[in-house]
Amino acid sequence: MKKITVKSGANLDDYKAYGSLFIMVDKFLQETEAFPEKLKGRTIWMINSTAIGGGVAEMLPSQMRIMRTLGIKIEWLVIEATENAFFNLTKRIHNAIHGSGSGVFTEEDREVYERVNTQNVEKALEYIADGDIVVIHDPQPMPLARMIRAKRKVKTVWRCHIGLESTNETTEGVWDFLSVYYPDYDHFVFSLPSYVPESLKNKTAIIPPAIDPLSHKNRMLWMSKCLGILQQSGVIREQLPMLYPNYQHQVRRVMPDGSFNKVNHDSELDIIFHPTVLQISRWDRLKGFKELMEAFILMKKENEKKADKSSMAYRRIRHTRLALGGPDPAFVSDDPEGMEVLNELIEQYKGLSVDLQRSIALLLLPLDNPKENALIVNALQRSATIVVQNSIQEGFGLTATEAMWKKRPVLVSGAAGLRAQVQHNINGKINPDPSDIKKLAQALEDMLSNPLERDKWGFNGQVRVINKFTLFSQIKSWLDLLSTLY
Ligand code: UDP
Repeated sequence: MKKITVKSGANLDDYKAYGSLFIMVDKFLQETEAFPEKLKGRTIWMINSTAIGGGVAEMLPSQMRIMRTLGIKIEWLVIEATENAFFNLTKRIHNAIHGSGSGVFTEEDREVYERVNTQNVEKALEYIADGDIVVIHDPQPMPLARMIRAKRKVKTVWRCHIGLESTNETTEGVWDFLSVYYPDYDHFVFSLPSYVPESLKNKTAIIPPAIDPLSHKNRMLWMSKCLGILQQSGVIREQLPMLYPNYQHQVRRVMPDGSFNKVNHDSELDIIFHPTVLQISRWDRLKGFKELMEAFILMKKENEKKADKSSMAYRRIRHTRLALGGPDPAFVSDDPEGMEVLNELIEQYKGLSVDLQRSIALLLLPLDNPKENALIVNALQRSATIVVQNSIQEGFGLTATEAMWKKRPVLVSGAAGLRAQVQHNINGKINPDPSDIKKLAQALEDMLSNPLERDKWGFNGQVRVINKFTLFSQIKSWLDLLSTLY
């Protein structure tokens, strides 16, 4: 077990300095005034399985900083494990909660699961005192609660960041395996109501994920900064000497023959001069990349059938580009599934006409430097005309939240997490079935042809995020829950 030190970062005044956040932060301060007194003398312990990578690790530092500013004591512990069997098991549990793989778990599985957690408990007990609150994130450290409670009088909460809207044999199997640990928890937190197992319904709070508006992924980028990042990362060709040097590792693009090279090596992507449709995700089949590419191709092909080649409608679609971005496999050695999905997309891309290959870019984003990766995603999202998240299944879909915060109009599928965020024709468009290529192509064309609607949806999207999905609403919900446990 390791205690993580959270570095200093943005403070409340920095958030308040953003005009659009001022009222919300002010309201947050009023609403949370009473909490430090209610939680006096207690430390909140967040426990998860990684300090880097993944949504929990990304959000915890800013949440902790804000809570500490309020005068609340909060700390972060990360479990340590070296056994491959443990990671294989927790990956299987993760997949099973998403409804895939097998839902069969054995007593040997439980033995590995509890052994690794037992190895971590002693160190945890050195930190945790009677009267504290322990929040355990996701399945990996779930068995810890019982072990901690055996030695300390604490309240415990299990925060599950994953889920599936429906149930099947696999989900039933995994929840059955985990249900042994339910009695060790006073309360549960899930992201959406439909993810909560039936037997936990009356002990659960719903707290959706959220973004930090001042993180590198989301902070404001002025046009010159945005263009600078696109140039430093190799997305646009070097035009002029820049203030900062190029990133050590640059964005790469899949070439017509399937090899990887500089983004503008074979043909200019010119992302900043074209209407651009963007989706950035992990290379996961459930993200719907393949379907999105097919719909884009269909839209382009239908466009070529238009009689009037001089019309604005024809020229607009003719000029549009599709950028599909995800992690560069050079930096993710342990994701064979991701590589498989990327290879399928590469095959699909290799078979296209030269014209279509020039309009479509499979972009590989470097991951060696988290700050640079976040800035690249930020700059790409800000440069997009439409941000798409065409997921077949989606736990929440922070990529949509990130785009809405940046006032980019979003086109999303009807997957649960996305439906919870986007309001159809108010702050984006929902195309319910991500594999209905015809409807998706039509939705793309409608959005591309409607600049006024897009602007309106972009503005509304940011308001939606400010009201519902920033770390401030999230912290308020957490404090509401934690302050009632004792
Ligand atoms: N992301 C990134 N670089 C990539 C691909 C994704 O930084 O190459 C980020 C993306 O901006 C978002 C997160 O990874 O913040 C993905 O979260 P989401 O909820 O959309 O999906 P998940 O990956 O959790 O299924």
